[in-house]
Order: sequence, then C-alpha cells, then structure tokens
Amino acid sequence: MKTNPSNLSRRTFLANSAKAGLTVGLLGAGIPDLFGKESLPAFATGFTQQPLPYGYAALEPHIDARTMEIHYTKHAAAYASNLRDAAKEEGVDTTQPLEQVLASISKYSTKMRNNGGGHYNHELFWSILAPPSAEGLSGSPDGSLLKALKASFGSYEAFVAQFETAAKTRFGSGWAWLLIDASGKLVVSSTPNQDNPLMDLAEVKGTPILGLDVWEHAYYLHYQNRRPDYVAAFWKLVNWNAVAARFAATTT
Ligand code: MN
Repeated sequence: MKTNPSNLSRRTFLANSAKAGLTVGLLGAGIPDLFGKESLPAFATGFTQQPLPYGYAALEPHIDARTMEIHYTKHAAAYASNLRDAAKEEGVDTTQPLEQVLASISKYSTKMRNNGGGHYNHELFWSILAPPSAEGLSGSPDGSLLKALKASFGSYEAFVAQFETAAKTRFGSGWAWLLIDASGKLVVSSTPNQDNPLMDLAEVKGTPILGLDVWEHAYYLHYQNRRPDYVAAFWKLVNWNAVAARFAATTT
C-alpha cells in the first residue's frame, strides 16, 4: 500500500517527532545511511525537497489544503529544482549541508541566493508546523526555550508581539524569524524575498529556529489581503517541540 502522508495517524506523527528528537540527542554528529556514508548532521539541510511530514489538509482551517498543495508542489519544489540547477552551473558540492553555502552566499549568483534561500526556508517552515489538534504538543513553548524567550524579550507575549510586528511590517515578500545570534541570544528579525539569517549578507545574522513565510503565495487563497489574520493563526500551528529541538541543537 502506498503511504500517503495524510493517512498517517496522529500517533504515528508524534512517534516520528519523538524519534526525530531522540536522533538529535544520540546522533547529533551525523547518521550513517544505508550505504555506509555519513549523511547530513541533524537539522542540516540537503539540496532536495523532503516529504511533507503531514497531509495537505492537516493544517486546516488555518492554512487550507489547496494553498499547502500549491505551496509545496509548485513553489517550494521549484526552489529545490532551481537550486540544484544553480549548484550544477556553479560547481557546488551538493553533499555538503546547504547551510555552508548560505554562510558565504554573497560569493554566488542571485539564482543561488534566491533558490538556496527559498529551499532552506521552506524545509524549515514545514518542519516547525504541526496539525492544530496534534496530541502531545502544547500551544506554547516551555522549559529552557521559554526561559530563553523570557530572558531575551521579557515575556512570551512580548516575543509574540515583536514577531507579529516583524511579519506584518515586512513590505512585499519575505519572512519573519526567531533566531539565535552569535552571542546565544534569541532575536526577532525579518528578511526580504528568500533571504534568511544564515546568509552572510543578512542584516541580522544567526541560526533561525522558527520562521514564517509572509509571501502572498503562502496565504492569499484563504486570507487575500488579510496578512495579520494569517500571522495570528500561525501560532495555532507551531510545533513547539520541533522549535525546542532546534534551539537545543544550536545552544548545546
Ligand atoms: Mn513560500
């Protein structure tokens, strides 16, 4: 039987999330794959599009199935495909983590910048979302991530307000980010187009652990011009377990 992501039960979804968490702790340095070759370290991004960890309708009603399908199979798939073209044209080794290329993106073409960023950003975005009713996921962060948010922003609510402002005031297309800067502090920023904080030319640099796509293609079918409503709904879909795992992997 063909496995369709939308057939995955909630239990399977959470079991997979738990396994991913375990993998981070035990095998953070790299996971030998079936061919005996070291695969990418945990949370490193490759040059190919990974399967969506839930069905297109899983994020309803906050993100509709049609938007998810077009977003994943057309927009995000095109970034991945164009990235591989750019890598071929510019002689880039596609077995290295994409993060290494992004860190010196100013040395590459605009095609590499737009599609490398586009691919990385979407892979991160899918990974930090979860169905709104998923059991075992709380609607807000806890533990050391919550502590760090409080230390950086004063409160969780103050962080949310700052992130929403970044998402709503980004003019045109772009992203809002929660990132860890070089000093280990949590910071909110936004970037234009498909740029991100990993890029050497980013205004605010660091490792993103949460990102929100505010391109119109991410919300227009359902929300039209109401970007603030989409931004508010985003919080109902954040997989805080995944964000906490990225936080832990970056800070420990
Ligand atoms: Mn997008």
